[in-house]
Amino acid sequence: MKNAKILVTGAGGFIGHHLVSRLKAEGYWVRGADLKHPEWENTLADEFAIVDLRKWEDSLRASRDIDYVYNLAADMGGIGYITASHADIARNNILINAHTLEASRINAVRRFLFSSSACVYAQYKQNSPDVTPLREEDVFPADPEPGYGWEKLYAEELCRYYWQDYRMETRIVRFHNVYGPLGTFEGGKEKAPAAICRKVAELPDGGVIEVWGDGQQTRSFMYVDDCVEGLLRLMHSDYHDPLNLGTDELITVDGLVDMVCHLADKRLVKAHNLSRPQGVRGRNSDNTRLRQVLGWEPRTGLEKGLSVTYRWIENELRKSGRIESSRTLHA
Ligand code: NAD
Repeated sequence: MKNAKILVTGAGGFIGHHLVSRLKAEGYWVRGADLKHPEWENTLADEFAIVDLRKWEDSLRASRDIDYVYNLAADMGGIGYITASHADIARNNILINAHTLEASRINAVRRFLFSSSACVYAQYKQNSPDVTPLREEDVFPADPEPGYGWEKLYAEELCRYYWQDYRMETRIVRFHNVYGPLGTFEGGKEKAPAAICRKVAELPDGGVIEVWGDGQQTRSFMYVDDCVEGLLRLMHSDYHDPLNLGTDELITVDGLVDMVCHLADKRLVKAHNLSRPQGVRGRNSDNTRLRQVLGWEPRTGLEKGLSVTYRWIENELRKSGRIESSRTLHA
């Protein structure tokens, strides 16, 4: 398997870039493909193709002479971004996923992994902050996140049809909120952990931090190294159905803010902005099947992973002259 040639789409993005680094450390030959190069450090990929996977010819070119595809390219961002442009996101991702899957089939790719999302889960099962952790079958009857979630759910189905009709070896992973260093932390596409780390780093002790929603909405968060480990394990497994990949360490958004404040040794006043989107009320991952299928589950504690993430974002802000000196971190 080590002499397999691997394509990582979305290799200029957060998870894709980490995955390329890990695959190179394992000794694989890797081609990255994306609209752009990684933002924070150079890729380790053997080849890096600047392509637009919404275009059929680019998808064909990207997956030529490839054995395994990790399809991570997507038009996506945090809750503000995905609720603001349903048409663009759904259209762009339909094109990326349909083209990449079909191009992989034509190019006789041996395995194809699709990165889905916990946004596929039925919204009516996520109305309470102390939500029952979501099992893979909780997707149906379908009521996913508008736009982004509907597209992910349909692309999951497309992967299953390719397995059923062509016996193409597809894998489907449902990520639950991935965070870590080398990810976007501003500009509108950042997710809650990165946004909170940036705000805390920029504010003075005693400052006022804007929190979207009432802060009582709950989520679980997975450190990016665990995400990458899970991706490799799933690719090497023989499991075709969708599989959760996340932690079941549930926390409120207010709790997340408190944790980052503790790490930064700052006391901030929360200002809840109820006019900003907050997504579903509660969401957690049921990892029963993950443990069964992979014999493993993510193990990095939130405080530990956030500490690394906060330090990285603080350092980036310092390098660009937006904050002054380093502070001592707790934990
Ligand atoms: P990201 O935005 O950092 O990376 C996605 C990459 O895809 C970007 O670099 C972007 O330039 C690229 N891309 C977009 N359109 C493209 C196109 N037309 N052609 C080629 N490349 C294109 O996002 P990420 O956090 O690394 O997410 C990776 C995958 O995981 C995505 O499919 C995403 O939907 C999924 N996911 C992520 C999370 C999370 O918490 N990060 C949660 C659920 C699902």
